[in-house]
Amino acid sequence: MTRGPRILLRQIREALGAGAAPAQDRLDMVVRIIARSMVAEVCSIYLRRASGELELFATEGLNPEAVHNTRLRPGEGLVGEVARLAQPISLSDAPSHPSFSYRPETGEDPYHAFLGAPLLRGGRAIGVLVVQNRTERRYDEDEVEDIQTIAMVLAETVASGELLAEDELRDVEVAPHRPERLKGQRFAEGLAFGHAVLHEAPLAPEKLLSDDPAMEEARLKLALATLKSGLDAMLDGGQGKLAGPSFEVLETYRMFADDRGWNRSLEEAVRNGLTAEAAVDRVRNEHRARFAQARDPYIRERLHDFEDLANRLLRVLAGDKPGERELPDDAILVARNLGPADLLEYPRDKLKGLLLEEGSAASHAAIVARALQIPCVGRLMGLRDRLSEGDLVIADGETGEAYLRPRPDMLEAVQSRMAVREQRRAEFAQLRDTPAVTLDGQRISLLTNAGLAVDLENLAETGAEGIGLFRTEFQFMVSDELPRLTAQTALYRLVLDAAGDRPVTFRTLDIGGDKVLPYLEAEREENPALGRRAIRLGLDRPSLLRMQLRALLTAAAGRELRVMFPMIATVDEFRAARELVDIECAWARRRGRPLPALLRVGAMVECPSLLWHLDALLPLTDFVSIGTNDLFQYMYAADRTNPLVSDRYDPLSPPALRALQTIQKACADTGTPVSICGELAGRPLEAFALITLGFTRLSAPAGGVGPVKRMILSADLTAARRGLNNLLNLSTGSVRNEIESLARKLNVVV
Ligand code: PEP
Ligand code: MG
Repeated sequence: MTRGPRILLRQIREALGAGAAPAQDRLDMVVRIIARSMVAEVCSIYLRRASGELELFATEGLNPEAVHNTRLRPGEGLVGEVARLAQPISLSDAPSHPSFSYRPETGEDPYHAFLGAPLLRGGRAIGVLVVQNRTERRYDEDEVEDIQTIAMVLAETVASGELLAEDELRDVEVAPHRPERLKGQRFAEGLAFGHAVLHEAPLAPEKLLSDDPAMEEARLKLALATLKSGLDAMLDGGQGKLAGPSFEVLETYRMFADDRGWNRSLEEAVRNGLTAEAAVDRVRNEHRARFAQARDPYIRERLHDFEDLANRLLRVLAGDKPGERELPDDAILVARNLGPADLLEYPRDKLKGLLLEEGSAASHAAIVARALQIPCVGRLMGLRDRLSEGDLVIADGETGEAYLRPRPDMLEAVQSRMAVREQRRAEFAQLRDTPAVTLDGQRISLLTNAGLAVDLENLAETGAEGIGLFRTEFQFMVSDELPRLTAQTALYRLVLDAAGDRPVTFRTLDIGGDKVLPYLEAEREENPALGRRAIRLGLDRPSLLRMQLRALLTAAAGRELRVMFPMIATVDEFRAARELVDIECAWARRRGRPLPALLRVGAMVECPSLLWHLDALLPLTDFVSIGTNDLFQYMYAADRTNPLVSDRYDPLSPPALRALQTIQKACADTGTPVSICGELAGRPLEAFALITLGFTRLSAPAGGVGPVKRMILSADLTAARRGLNNLLNLSTGSVRNEIESLARKLNVVV
C-alpha cells in the first residue's frame, strides 16, 4: 500500500457518503479506490448470502458480468477458505494452491498474487475482501495488516446498512435476520421476551474512524497504561500479597496486557486510522475468529481471557460501567458467561431475562437470576454470533430455549403462555396465606432464599414464612470495597425489619469458588472450589468474620438472631466458628451493648465428610441446613460451575437421596431442626421427594415458593413414603422418572 490506509479509509468514507449515488455505484467506487491504493489489478468484495454462498458483489479488474453471478459454495475456492478460516490468506501464486477454484466467468486467469481478508462481525465472516496482482509477488506484513483494517471498516459499514440498501441486504448474511431457535438448558424458570442487550457490546460504525490518529494513539496508550496499572494494583493488593482469589485469571490478563503482538496490533490499527475502540474491537474479532475454531477447552479459555481484557479496555476507554449503560425497558441480557457480580451491576427493573452461551445451572449467576426472578437459559451454542444488539428475543426458561427474532405467531404464542403464567402466579398469590399442609396433615415450613435488599420486597408477596438462607456475600459482591461494619449492620437491620416476626437465617460470608472479591486478598489457588472458601477463609481471617458477627449481633439486638456457617467440613471448624460468636458476645456484653434476645447458631451441611460425623456435630449445633448445591457437587466430584460436568448426575438418585435421608434421620433422632436450602427445594418434583423423606423445612428461591406450596397441598405423604422407600434401593443412577410416575399416580401436582 503506497499511501497508507488512513488516506484510503478517508476516501472510502467519502465514497460511502456519496449521497444519492446508487448503492452498487458506491460499492464499485470503493473497490476501485482500494485497488488503486493497494496497487492491485483486482479488488473484489464477496458477501455471504443466507444460503451460505459467497456472492461477488463488486469488482475492479475481474469481468463485470460476473458480479452477482459468481457464487461460491461455503468453503469453495480461496475466497471460501478465507471465510471458513476467518483469517487472511496471502499467496504469491494462487492457482497452484490446492484450494484454488477456477471460475472462467470471472476472467481471473492472469492473476497470480492473492490477498484475501474476511469481513468479520462478532467473530463470524460475513464476506471476503480480495486483492489480486498479475505478478507472483508476496504481500508484506503491513499490507496484510492494512487489508484487515479496511475489511473491518467494510464489515461494519455493510452491516450497518450504510453501504447497501436494505432490499439488497435482505438475503445477505451480514447480520443474521431469520428467526432461529436455539436449544440450551434451563437455568432459571420463567418466560420473557424483549430486546437483546449484548454484555460485550459491539461498536457503532460511526465510532470506527478517527480524525486524529496521533491523539487516538495517545488515548489508546493512556487506556492501556490505566488497564495495566489497575491489574497491577489488584495483583499487588493489600500488604504485598497476591490479591484476588482468581489470581490466575488476573495474572493471565496481566500477561496478555503486555503481549507484544496484542499491543502492536492495537497500535497499528490506530495508526491506520481506526479509533482506539475500533482497534480493540478489530483485534478482538480476529482473536475470536481464530480461537473459535479451536476445540481445545484450554485454548477457548484463553479466548475468554482475551475477550475479558478487550472488554476491560473498552470500559476504560468509555469510562463506563454496565450499570450506567442505556438499557431498553425490556432488556434480555446476552453473554458468553457472566459472574454474579456482573449481573448485579445491571439495573434490575429493566432486566427481563438472561441468555448465556455457556454457564451452568448451579453457578451463582444462575442463582442470582432466580433471585431476581428472571428466566435464564444457558448453554446456547453460537448464541452471540447469531444475535445483534437490539434483536427481539425470547428467553424460554420453561423449555430451556431461546427464540431469536421470532415470527409474530411465535411471539403471540409466548405472550399467551406468559398470560397463563401470570394467571398461575395469581393463583399462587391466593395461596399466600394458606398454610403449607399436606393432605395427611403434615405441616411444612416454606421459607425463601435471599441475598439482596431488593429480595425483601418479594418476601411478603411469596407468602414465605421467613428467610431460610440469607446469602450475606451478595452485599460484598456488589461493592467495590469491603463493606464497613456500619454498612453491614445497616443491611442486616433492614432485613430483620422487613422480615418482622418471620425468622431470618443469616449465612456468614461465603466467598471463594465462583464468587470472587477482587479487593480481598487471597492466595493463588489451583482449585478454588476445593480451596479456601467460605468458613475456611473466615477462620483464617477471623477479623473479617468477627466484624460480620459483630454487625449481626448489633443489628439483632433485642430480637432473635439465627446465624449459620457455610462449608463446615469438620466439627473443629464449627467449634472454632462458634467460639468467635462467643467472643463477640462477650465483647458486646463487656461494653454493655444489647444482645439478641435469642441466639441460634447452626452449620450448613455441604461437605460430605459431615455425613459420618453427625453424631459429633449435631449436639454442638442449634440447627443445620443442607446446602444441596455444594453437597452434591462434592459428593459427585462435579464442579457446579463447569458445564462439562455439572449436570452429569441427577440429585434425584439413590445415593443423593440416601445421603439426605441419613441426615434427616440423625436430626430427627437428636431433635435437631434441619432445613434444606439448596436450589432443589424450589422445584416441585424434587421438593416432593424431600418432604417424602421427612424434611419439614424447605427454603426455596422466591419463584419456587408458590409452585412448591401447591405441590405440598396436593401430597399425601403416607402413601408417597412407601413408594419412595422402594426407589431408594434401585440400582439406577437416576430415579427421576420413577418419582415422577409416583407423583402422578398419587395426583401430586408437580
Ligand atoms: C448450597 O450450596 O446448596 C447453598 C445453598 O449455598 P450456595 O449455593 O450459596 O453455595
Ligand atoms: Mg453452598
